[in-house]
Order: sequence, then C-alpha cells, then structure tokens
Amino acid sequence: MGCVKNFNTALEIWLGHNGIANIQVHEGADFCYFYETHKIQWGMIVNEKLDHDFAEYFHEYGVEGMTLDKMDIVVFSFLHEVGHVMTLSNFTEEEMRLDAIFKDDMHDSFEYWDLPVELAANVWAIKWVETHKKEYQVLYNLFATGLRAIYDDKDVMEQINDWMDDIMDGEDVDLIIDEDDD
Ligand SMILES: [Zn+2]
Repeated sequence: MGCVKNFNTALEIWLGHNGIANIQVHEGADFCYFYETHKIQWGMIVNEKLDHDFAEYFHEYGVEGMTLDKMDIVVFSFLHEVGHVMTLSNFTEEEMRLDAIFKDDMHDSFEYWDLPVELAANVWAIKWVETHKKEYQVLYNLFATGLRAIYDDKDVMEQINDWMDDIMDGEDVDLIIDEDDD
C-alpha cells in the first residue's frame, strides 16, 4: 500500500478509536467534509493565506495556553472537518448547502467562520482538544509521520505538480493520488 492510502487508513482507524465511525478519509487539494457521502478530505496543497488566518483564529478563540505550530494548524484543519461530522445533526440540509455555496465564493475567512455551520465545527474542535490532550498528541504524531512520508515520496510529489499544471491550464480535475496496490 502506498503512503497516501496508508495515511488515509490510519486516519480512519484513529476516527474509529475515537468513536467516530463510518467516515471515509481521502486526499484532495484542500480540507473538506462531504456531508452527503460522509467523507472527509484532507488537503495536500498548502494555502499560506488560509493557514495564516486559521492560526490567527485559533490564537484568538482557541485552546488556552497552546502555542500552535504549522502542524497544529493542519491537525486543527482536520479536527474542524471532524467537527462538521459531529455537529451536522444541528443543521438542516439547506443550511449545509448554503454553507458549501458560500465556501466556493469565500473572500474573507473570518466572515466564513462566522457562519453557524462553521462556528459549530470550530467550537467542537476547540472543546475536543481541551478535553482530549492525549488523543490530540496521538493525532498530531500521526499527521507528522504520515505527511513526512508523503512529501518525501517523489512519485506523489510529481502527481501533485502535474495536478497543479492542469489547474493552471484551466482544467477542473480532482487531486487523487494514484498508487500501486502492493
Ligand atoms: Zn468548515
């Protein structure tokens, strides 16, 4: 199994261990929760602006006494998507749909995170980290190890670069990594 599939599986197992069942995890360009298909997508492409805003958001509203490094922001991005899974039942299909439309047209991250659906996900993530310090560390290590293996993989990086070229050429394709099943 390749390092990307390995990582996806490790995240699914981690979710299962933490009582969040029946969620599939896969890679993509950015972090997203597909509520219709119960899939969490984690982002392979670093968005400096968004990460910077997210760090600022969590410095302001986040877990007290916690200094955040770059990996923390990635882990919080994942936990934000888990937060969507956990708070989904508070919202109607229409509210989720409007949230998705707003996301496509996002100019101001902070405005976006003010949306009730987004706020609920972030509040869930913050509360969870406050009460699950040990589990958070496990997840952090999982990301650190998994991402190191992925970004060290020449074949994977080549596919990411090809995908970026396609996007620059105006093609609208999903970033899915192709790996040998051995
Ligand atoms: Zn969200």
